[in-house]
Amino acid sequence: MTRKINWQQILIQCKNNIQNQITPFLKKLNKPQPDLGIGAGGDPIKQIDLAAENAVVNTLKKHKISFTLISEESGIKACGKTPDEHFVTVDPIDGTTNLMRGIPFYATSIAVSTKPRLDTVHKALVADLHHGVTYMAQKGEGAYRNSQKITPSKTVSLEEAVIGMDLNTYKVQKIIPQITSLVKKTKHIRHLGANALELCYVADGTTDAFIDIRGKLRSTDMAAAYLIIQEAKAKITTPRGKPLRIRLHPKQKVSFIAAANPKIQKTILNMIRL
Ligand SMILES: [Mg+2]
Repeated sequence: MTRKINWQQILIQCKNNIQNQITPFLKKLNKPQPDLGIGAGGDPIKQIDLAAENAVVNTLKKHKISFTLISEESGIKACGKTPDEHFVTVDPIDGTTNLMRGIPFYATSIAVSTKPRLDTVHKALVADLHHGVTYMAQKGEGAYRNSQKITPSKTVSLEEAVIGMDLNTYKVQKIIPQITSLVKKTKHIRHLGANALELCYVADGTTDAFIDIRGKLRSTDMAAAYLIIQEAKAKITTPRGKPLRIRLHPKQKVSFIAAANPKIQKTILNMIRL
């Protein structure tokens, strides 16, 4: 029998527990530490990612929830007796490089879905861990920033727009020709280094679009922000303007154009040369 789960409350508990778990590590990292590597099992950055992930898993276990974890860190893990009941896609820390360099822009991202597919995500949380800002969405119920309903911007002109673009890839020669005309017309280009949070910035009108056409971003990084964008009634599609139909898997990559409103979305899609 399926019981009613208060996901909103549980996701906030997950976020609070993540915050508690990572605070001791952050104290050790309170000075910029450019020499810290990523990936070696025992290094402090890996410890932060794993501590954050464990905080999510332990919170869900405490509530006796059976689920399949889909995580950037540990891959796919079945938890409980009926792990197909819920799929929980987690990027424990989005923006790890920012965190380790002391750049105050990193987040945690948690999405709950009925299947391991992006279009079945029904609850989402993205939390800016530095500024204490939490974005949440529930399918059909809108998107919120610290409990305030959010809406995207109405900006349509590229002259005025602030547009995020992730160009961190060795395939940059391939991508530059695709975006040259857009870059030429855009006055304010940004990349802040935590894609989940940058998508939330489109959702709440802080920025007007965010583009990642590298084919490099993992589905785990944007699963939660996807629902927040959708529920804020901003737009997110493939670079060809098609719906994003992808599976949720640590190895599944995704490219997208997120835009505040249909007009600026159309302008951007028309300017991208694929
Ligand atoms: Mg991460």
